[in-house]
Amino acid sequence: MIVAIDGPAGAGKSTVAKILAKKLGFLYIDTGAMYRALTLKALNNNVSTGNQDAVIALARTVKIELLHNPDGSLTVMLDGADVSMAIRQPRITQVVSDVAKIKEVREILVNMQRECGEKGDCVLDGRDIGTVVFPQAEKKFFIDASREERTRRRFKELRGMGEKIEEAAVAQDLANRDRIDSTRQTSPLRRAPDALYIDTTDLSIEQVVEKMFSLCKKNAE
Ligand code: C5P
Repeated sequence: MIVAIDGPAGAGKSTVAKILAKKLGFLYIDTGAMYRALTLKALNNNVSTGNQDAVIALARTVKIELLHNPDGSLTVMLDGADVSMAIRQPRITQVVSDVAKIKEVREILVNMQRECGEKGDCVLDGRDIGTVVFPQAEKKFFIDASREERTRRRFKELRGMGEKIEEAAVAQDLANRDRIDSTRQTSPLRRAPDALYIDTTDLSIEQVVEKMFSLCKKNAE
């Protein structure tokens, strides 16, 4: 069974997806981590994310692996090196949407995501899982929250990682990514017509997971 979770940045998708996957005994696939890893590769190679041809060339040879740890977390490997922390840096977040809007990049990474998903029961989170990557997914969710709440969550998360970033900069980044992710030509962020919309602004993580879990269980019965 495939569980597709889409929504804007900071809505809490990856947090709930990870817990939900563990509860269901499914693999968790963080597709955003793949776009982030490719972005890191570009920056490591001094390739500007605006240089689309060069980014596409890197995408053609990149090796991205998601290793599943027993506690449900993921280790993200880029060409054999652990980049789990490096891909969360603000310098990556600021430009990842420029990489993710490139059609050829999406084709390559979507293929990788389908290969991962075809291995068995999976929970995938991203922007286009229910619309493009797995339109036939048995269960689809669209996770949202107000811009203010999403900013607060991302800010807390980054401060927790030791990043010295201001809340205004986080708000600016979210607004920018929302705009690029939802207006790009190839697979823009959209709610699939058959996705269940969940506004998590006033819900706890547990409440969201419980809601999703009971619906997935119903579907699996
Ligand atoms: O989920 P996360 O915030 O880590 O994703 C980083 C970026 O990767 C998003 O802002 C978006 O530009 C891109 N992305 C995408 N499609 C996906 C997952 C992520 O375009 N399925």
